[in-house]
This record gives sequence, C-alpha cells and structure tokens, in this order.
Amino acid sequence: MSRKVDDFLERLLFGFVTRVRGHFVALAALLFYPGVGLILPLAARWSESWLVSANVSGVSVAAAICLCWLAVQITAQQRRLLVEWTSDLRLLDAAEFEWFVGELFRREGWRVEETGQHGAPDGNVDLRLSKPGEKRLVQCKRWRSWQVGVDDVRAFAGALLREGVAGREGVFVTLSDYTPQAREEAKQTGLALLDSRDLYERVERVRRAEPCPICAAPMRLDRSAHGWWFRCLALNCAGKRDLGRDPVRAVELLTQHR
Ligand SMILES: [Zn+2]
Repeated sequence: MSRKVDDFLERLLFGFVTRVRGHFVALAALLFYPGVGLILPLAARWSESWLVSANVSGVSVAAAICLCWLAVQITAQQRRLLVEWTSDLRLLDAAEFEWFVGELFRREGWRVEETGQHGAPDGNVDLRLSKPGEKRLVQCKRWRSWQVGVDDVRAFAGALLREGVAGREGVFVTLSDYTPQAREEAKQTGLALLDSRDLYERVERVRRAEPCPICAAPMRLDRSAHGWWFRCLALNCAGKRDLGRDPVRAVELLTQHR
C-alpha cells in the first residue's frame, strides 16, 4: 500500500517538474517551505509539536521538489550530449562508420581486420577482431531506420554459423537501437549488441575535445560540400578548422587519447 503511495507521489512530482518552468518549481518549493512549514503554523499559532511536524514535512517536500527538478535537468543534459554525438556520427557514411567502429576496438586493445564488402547482402562480417586466445566477428549497421529488427540479428547469427563461430563471439553494432524481439534473439544466441548509447559511452572514453582557435569554446564536427571541418559553437564566433576531404583525419581527432 505504502509502496503504491510512494510510486504515485513520485510520478506526481516528476510529472510536475517536467511540465512547468523552473521558477514555478522554485515557487512550489517556497510554498512548502517556508510557506506550509513555517509561516502558516506561526500565523495560525499552532502548538509546538504541530509546528515541528509541519516544519519537518515542509522541508522534506520542498527538498524533494528541488532534488527531483535537479535530476530531470541532469538527465536532459545527458540526452542532449547523446543526440549531439550521434548526429555527429551520422555524418559518416557506411564505410567511414565501419572504420570508426574498428578504430574504437583498436583503442580497446583488439587487432582489427576490416573485411566489410560494401553493398554486400545483409549478414556479412565487417570487422574481425583478435586478441591472444580471443576473437570476435563484428557487423556494423550505421543507420537504417530507428531500430534494428530480428531479421538482421538472425542474418548475422547465420553468418557466424557458416563461419563455424559461437554466437557469443559475434558483436552487432548500430547507431540506432534494437527491437525487443531482436534483443531477445540475441540473448538466445549469445550475440553482443551495441546500440547508440553503448557506442557513445565508448567514444566518450577515448574522445578528445577540440577547442576553438579563437575563443577556446568547444567546436563541433561538421561536413559540407568542401569536406570536413570543425566549427565553433559560441555565438558570433567565426572560429573554424578545416580538415579537408579526409574523414579519417576528423575521426582520428575525435578519438585521440587525451
Ligand atoms: Zn570560437
């Protein structure tokens, strides 16, 4: 019963802080403390024990509102970063994406052999990874639709079978996400699935920030008809750095060790 009440209150609180602006959240917090917790009991001349209870509840509710608001802000910030990063990565074409994924594994200590044949039918092996006593076969699906479906996962599992390799030695990498059926299928065959979030976390571990040469604000990777370049994110700053036609150089800069 109390569990249900807690869940309800939590939903109510999160619903409130995600729907209204910051200063309304501050107003609500002030309403509970000092409002309900101090001013109301003093004005109504409540007894001392009532005053203490009102004070404690007022402080608790006000603190809960503030913490909840903070949690929502932090999640939103993380989500923004993720979107920024994956949109950067989406600038890469299929071949560049494979190169990029290979580079990530290389930095994680694997020997990487690129074996992808672009335009080959689904289910082919794009990267072969090896370490002493270990190997992995990788398929990269850059970005096709919102989700990778069960058929894609089955096709790759079939390719592993033809190679005579156990399912747990297969890694499927995508910039999008997987359908629940695809995840279930992967669980049964032992296949590892990396989605945009996993990829983002791995990139974050090895990436290097690129500061603007004029104002030192962070720059963002971009691509135009003339090739790759970094442009400054600060307002009214023309800072940029031309990387030419070579995406390898751009990806190298993004993944260099600090
Ligand atoms: Zn700048």
